[in-house]
Amino acid sequence: MAGLIYLDNAATTGVDVGVLEKMIPWFAENYGNPSSIYSLGRDAKKEIENARAKVADALNSRPNEIFFTGSGTESDNWAIKGAAFASVRKGRHLVTTNIEHHAVLDTFEYLSKNGFEVTYVPVEPNGIVDARKLAASVRDDTSLVSVMMANNEIGTIQPIKQIAGLLAGKNILFHTDAVQAIGAVPVDVQDLGVDLLSLSAHKFHGPKGTGALYIKRGTRIDNLLHGGGQERTRRASTENTPGIIGLGYAIEKAVAGMESNSAGIRKIRDAVVKKVLSGIPYSIYNGDPEKRLPGNANFAFRFIEGEGLLLLLDMNGIMASSGSACTSGSLDPSHVLLALGLPHEIAHGSLRLSFGTDSRMEDVDYIVETIKRIVLRLREMSPLYEDFVKGKKLEE
Ligand code: PLP
Repeated sequence: MAGLIYLDNAATTGVDVGVLEKMIPWFAENYGNPSSIYSLGRDAKKEIENARAKVADALNSRPNEIFFTGSGTESDNWAIKGAAFASVRKGRHLVTTNIEHHAVLDTFEYLSKNGFEVTYVPVEPNGIVDARKLAASVRDDTSLVSVMMANNEIGTIQPIKQIAGLLAGKNILFHTDAVQAIGAVPVDVQDLGVDLLSLSAHKFHGPKGTGALYIKRGTRIDNLLHGGGQERTRRASTENTPGIIGLGYAIEKAVAGMESNSAGIRKIRDAVVKKVLSGIPYSIYNGDPEKRLPGNANFAFRFIEGEGLLLLLDMNGIMASSGSACTSGSLDPSHVLLALGLPHEIAHGSLRLSFGTDSRMEDVDYIVETIKRIVLRLREMSPLYEDFVKGKKLEE
């Protein structure tokens, strides 16, 4: 075995050691409250502003359009609830897609129980929303549209710029959840034309529990957290100084290394995909083959349960994820795979591999051979597969 192989970079990434070093002094040494007027506090404040400038540079925004939050989930909640409640005079109709992360979907569900009407635009079978169909769903009373930039399960990249173009001039706020996109594909808020954009540090080798929301200057949005006057009175809470500093250095590094990292990661992913599809019968590659994150591969293997596959992969030193919610105790298959039109029994046999900067080409053969061995073994035990083989024999 080639040692432990981590193929779950879409779930989280390890903190970059250089980033960690920048964070450490801000825990026990320079622990001042950034709101305090003495130097210990002023130093922290200065470093936070330095981090804000780094995030602004990475996104091509102004520093005063960046607000630090406690996670990608908080950024999504703030963007969606904040924009919806601030725009009730325009209307109570909201639009999103059916493959969003639960941080977005559950926020819309909350709003739909609280006086808003939500349209969920279905994606096409390749996992990409048709920008024209989405634009056709907006009405005079639509106040907000939210479409993720890149999907966390199948990696598909959505036509954000095209959607922004179609919404222009309609007085509708446009939010994108770019949590999976940062450091993987270019994210430029001016070019994209979005009003609100969420990100989360732990997806690009920054610390967990730190995120940011880009709010375009002049955007009407209510606060989510009420209390102190931090973040220019927009987000109460004593700042997570080490986390914010870590986010700043991590995004700087992720964006600077994006092109070369993504090229290397894509090569490894493509090698695995090719070998899996040619070597394992009845396997399906979910999502669009081209318009997807360089590190994402998502398969469905017919006649098996993804949960069993994951457990056996783990016993063989490979850490991966299934697209399905089975892992969290529910037997429902992933809403994303169902949205592609996959039947339940096939969606159950899904596997998400998400490659990252630590992935190595030398591991490709071991990864594919291990998946193949386990899939074939699980099929041997599958009554569904047995019936399928019997049926085939009868046909012959
Ligand atoms: N949005 C997407 C697309 C994600 O993949 C995730 C995390 O998996 C989130 C939001 C939530 O981010 P966080 O874990 O920082 O709350």
